[in-house]
Amino acid sequence: MSMMNVISRECIGTLAAMLIFAPAAIAQTQSLQQVADSSPFRPLDLPTPNEFRSASGRPGPKYWQQRVDYKISATLDPARNELRGRETIHYINHSPDTLAYLWMFVEQNLCAPTSVTNQLNQPPLVFLGTAFDFSCQGFNGGLHLDALRVGGVAAKHTIYGTTMRVDLRTPLAPGSAVDINAAWHFNVPPQGGGRMGHDGPLYEIAQWYPRMAVYDDVHGWNHEPYIGAGEFYLEYGDFDVSLIVPASYIVAATGELLNPEQVLTPMQRARLAAARKSDTAIAIIRANEAGNMDLTRPRIYAQGELSALNPEASLVWHFAAKNVRDLAFAGGPNFRWDASGYNGILIEDLYRPSADKWPEVNRIGREAIKYYSEQWYPYPWSHATTVEGPIEGMEYPMLTFTPNSPTREDQQWVIAHEFGHEWFPMIVGSNERLYPWMDEGFNTFIDLGNAAQYFRGTAYGDTIEVHPLHLYAEHATPGEQPLITNPTQVRDLFWVGYQKPALMMQMLRYEVLGKERFDQAFREYIKAWAFKHPTPADFFRVMRDQSGMDLDWFWRGWIYSTARLDQSIDSVVPRPDGGSNVYVGNHGTMLMPAELTLTLADGTKRTVKLPIEMWNLGSPFIYRSPAGERVTRAEVDARHTLPDTDRGNNVWPRARSK
Ligand SMILES: [Zn+2]
Repeated sequence: MSMMNVISRECIGTLAAMLIFAPAAIAQTQSLQQVADSSPFRPLDLPTPNEFRSASGRPGPKYWQQRVDYKISATLDPARNELRGRETIHYINHSPDTLAYLWMFVEQNLCAPTSVTNQLNQPPLVFLGTAFDFSCQGFNGGLHLDALRVGGVAAKHTIYGTTMRVDLRTPLAPGSAVDINAAWHFNVPPQGGGRMGHDGPLYEIAQWYPRMAVYDDVHGWNHEPYIGAGEFYLEYGDFDVSLIVPASYIVAATGELLNPEQVLTPMQRARLAAARKSDTAIAIIRANEAGNMDLTRPRIYAQGELSALNPEASLVWHFAAKNVRDLAFAGGPNFRWDASGYNGILIEDLYRPSADKWPEVNRIGREAIKYYSEQWYPYPWSHATTVEGPIEGMEYPMLTFTPNSPTREDQQWVIAHEFGHEWFPMIVGSNERLYPWMDEGFNTFIDLGNAAQYFRGTAYGDTIEVHPLHLYAEHATPGEQPLITNPTQVRDLFWVGYQKPALMMQMLRYEVLGKERFDQAFREYIKAWAFKHPTPADFFRVMRDQSGMDLDWFWRGWIYSTARLDQSIDSVVPRPDGGSNVYVGNHGTMLMPAELTLTLADGTKRTVKLPIEMWNLGSPFIYRSPAGERVTRAEVDARHTLPDTDRGNNVWPRARSK
């Protein structure tokens, strides 16, 4: 018999009845209607895992990323306040897609008169008194592109502010490569968007050469413009860079210095070799040597004998870096220079003699690199260098720009914070233009532990880790934006990009997973995505996979919403068997596990840690003390570790109001 025959007359009869009795039919349809899962534990709506990004949060078997190598020759001309350069970009298309055009960044256009930033003239971004001004302060800057050739021929290109589309005559097939040649120059702004610029003869140069935007499997081209708040998202590759600077200059840069014999004195080279093996700072350029060309600059052979270097001359500093997302450099004529070694890594700081907090900076930097390496992931490069100057704090691979700070604590924070960026986003290459919480936030989180260790035993060191929690009341206002907000649209970036995500990570580590379980998972995330491009979903999946705990409820509360936590003891009711029922309420929109501190009739105190599953059946949760164990007082979050918005209901019996 065929299936058709099985559909009986009865069936057809039912259909007919439904058509006749329409109201009943509608009622039936409604009763079958799908109702959205409103449980706070419902899964997050994440992209479907695929062969590029696996369900366990690791790169999939066909994960790919583009490769970009740069060869740059640039001249820093302080007399004209100009930087001019030529570059060859070798771009390899590892994607499965054929690319008809490429997107590049020309980020100096931040300071062009027509830039979004200049047109809108936004006020500076202020972080606790530190201002990052992206307006370029009326400076008439911008990149002048003198030539652009692709595969040897002039290429059609269109500039839109800080981004540029380059149309290819021949589309770039999967697996093939193309060379892009560019020549350019720009005036160096006094402080370009808070991230680069100069102070007199001291130059800190970044976001300076035309470079490739990231093409990935998630968004295609990531060409979010450089407006200010979002820093950068770049591909990994090798750099070979020759920097032509005045002979009086000392230069620090991303990468290895390939020609120390030509640009350093024999004494400086000997001191550097000793510093690499030294736990304490060795002066490469001493205070009394700074700015003195006879003492700090190499002699050269002229007419067969060594003679002093001509101050008008130039020197070429040649650097090479492997597998980095960017290259920055700084140069100046009057640096002091300290260095020490950790595990073969040279820790260096260069500073003007006026920087009074800097004699301690080498130790601060060394402790930071050591702490992050031992706690999270080994530092992968041969040097970590910081340069003192006008930039309030900015990070590049192997090199950071930091100011002289008003206090020791501020100085430690900014040095260790910028070095912390070597992990996020220099090693773990997340998209900073979209997700500041994955770089600034993760970095702030690891910085807190480092600051606590550095200042251990002092009032500052012993309280720094609760700093983000203490900021909660002031920053979690009705207008608060969720962490997932694009940074250029965030009104309180200090909170949304830095402190709240750090608090989130602390909550996950200390209150949800426990230190060991968290640390193992977070280390796995760093390792799995080192030198790659993770997305938020990849992070969530690694943390779930490695810790063995579903955390979608946690991310929903902390990243995708501005949920508020309000745990309470609603009441305590004695039972006939001598025990008590403790009614634990959740009156907010955020879930966290609850910790009860109970006082029993005999005066003893007991702590009960309840797992997150307590909220499976809604609120209140009833905690039943054992028979005969009468509870006379109950308190939730007695240690004050959670951002509870109303502590007035945390204790039972309620305190009498006066
Ligand atoms: Zn930062």
